[in-house]
Amino acid sequence: MSERKPRVVVVGGGLVGALNTCFLAKRGFIVDLYEKRSDIRKAEHVKGRSINLALSTRGRTALRMVGLEDTVLENGIRMHARMIHDPDGSRRPILYGKEDQYIMSVDRRRLNEVLLTAAEKNPNVTCHFEHKLVSCDFKTGEAEFINNEGKRIKKTVDLIVGNDGAFSGVRKEMMKATLLDYQQQYIPHGYMELTIPPSPKDEYLMETNYLHIWPRNEFMMIALPNLDKSFTCTLFMPFEIFNSIKTEEDLMNFFRDKFPDSIPLMGEETLKQIFMSSKALPMVSIKCSPYHVEDKGLIMGDAAHAMVPFYGQGMNAGFEDCIALDEMLDLYKNDFSKALPAYSETRTVDAHAICDLAMYNYVEILTKVLSGGMMVLLGVCALSGLRICNQRGITFQTLTDKAMELWESFPPVNR
Ligand SMILES: Cc1cc2nc3c(=O)[nH]c(=O)nc-3n(C[C@H](O)[C@H](O)[C@H](O)COP(=O)(O)OP(=O)(O)OC[C@H]3O[C@@H](n4cnc5c(N)ncnc54)[C@H](O)[C@@H]3O)c2cc1C
Repeated sequence: MSERKPRVVVVGGGLVGALNTCFLAKRGFIVDLYEKRSDIRKAEHVKGRSINLALSTRGRTALRMVGLEDTVLENGIRMHARMIHDPDGSRRPILYGKEDQYIMSVDRRRLNEVLLTAAEKNPNVTCHFEHKLVSCDFKTGEAEFINNEGKRIKKTVDLIVGNDGAFSGVRKEMMKATLLDYQQQYIPHGYMELTIPPSPKDEYLMETNYLHIWPRNEFMMIALPNLDKSFTCTLFMPFEIFNSIKTEEDLMNFFRDKFPDSIPLMGEETLKQIFMSSKALPMVSIKCSPYHVEDKGLIMGDAAHAMVPFYGQGMNAGFEDCIALDEMLDLYKNDFSKALPAYSETRTVDAHAICDLAMYNYVEILTKVLSGGMMVLLGVCALSGLRICNQRGITFQTLTDKAMELWESFPPVNR
């Protein structure tokens, strides 16, 4: 690369795009970030996915590298264990690991705001909100956007990075430009967010430092604590069942049967109001390869590897992508023609494995009868699988398909 500072377009100012911009700017690159939504820091309500997220070590390490870990942790809540809510209303904790190990519940909007503000503090970063990507050309490095006034804007750069989520426009353009393998899977379950408000005395209505889980075989509800003393609950169940609940009476019968202890916590009227006015949302798992086009295009985060949320690692893995790219840029001294293929090659193996593990956790959490021994066995299988894949360059999918076959051969009660 010449002395000239590389110019980069980042498409998408969500969690990964905003963090990636911090990383790229730290390298001295000139970064233009384009986000199709308006600036969330100025918006009253933000439409979109989950209100809070579980932040784990992967994500924290990336935040630390751009000096943001402490700021984010100050506004998070530690969760030391899962709290299982049984159908009879009893509760029992299951620790995540040792006493001092925990994951954090963080507010998605706040985290995104912190990241955007940090990105914009760099003099070499410019954020363009209400700019939607229309097309890009990986030969010339030209990206075209349309703004909220319908005006078309073109920008020519050295690298176009797609951090534009599961339905990525950059990925679509890459599919036209290179031989990109692509696999997408919707699961039969949808999700809906409900809420447990603070008590009248403004206190938490359940134990605070836990990820609460109501496992019910075919469905499941979880709840993560928020700083305002509320909990955000996410109900996961097959669309078929969501669709079969047509009236308030159906809803209350269902909740009385499956989640009786949650009704007084949510409040019957609030539950009815939120459920009847909301729509269950789909969950998709996406795997593709490679993640780059020559020395001009790259996808990261959900654009490259959207996963079902049952492993709580989608954002965390996206944050880890930023570290992985940073390492490759260090190794190849900012030479995109070498760093991008190297990133693609190493990152696809890990990202595909995380997508697969998320899919397994979907089965595990829902059945919740997995024995400790089976958990250890699965963990060992996953780790050895990863190592073998890395060494031999074979797809992790083949190994995991075999593991699933084995798993399904067990009678459910023994899983
Ligand atoms: C219910 C649920 C719970 C989850 N819980 C967790 C959790 O606990 N922990 C965890 O690690 N992960 C979790 N995830 C996953 C996590 O939400 C995602 O992995 C994460 O949001 C991915 O970030 P991203 O920046 O790659 O994509 P996104 O968050 O989707 O951001 C993409 C951005 O690109 C913008 N954009 C899209 N198209 C264009 C365009 N054409 N032009 C310009 N801009 C564009 C969008 O407006 C958006 O701002 C959960 C997901 C769900 C659905």
